[in-house]
Amino acid sequence: MAKYSSKINKIRTFALSLIFIGFIIMYIGIFFRTSPLWMTIFMVLGLLSIMASMVVYFWIGMLSTKAVQVSCPNCGKHTKILGRVDMCMYCREPLTLDKTLEGKEFDESYNKKNQETHS
Ligand SMILES: [Zn+2]
Repeated sequence: MAKYSSKINKIRTFALSLIFIGFIIMYIGIFFRTSPLWMTIFMVLGLLSIMASMVVYFWIGMLSTKAVQVSCPNCGKHTKILGRVDMCMYCREPLTLDKTLEGKEFDESYNKKNQETHS
């Protein structure tokens, strides 16, 4: 699928990467099996990382209930806005609930991130 960059999708990607990092850390711990102390440290860190991702997933669930569902003016699909400014999950159209924020905040934060994901 395309690289979505709406906030919920970003957080979801972050949570998923935390799980991978957790497994990688625990895998590294196996190499230290001769040293019980280091192996325990790596295992605990790996578990903490996986637990953190669970917390983040739970947080996404909380955020999703707060997100406002709108139909995108650009592609017409139903997407969710988180906070005052966010992007369409499907076409990355910048969306805002607050008309006074149109312009500045997008230029500073979202356009920049757009370019990063394009390159
Ligand atoms: Zn759209």
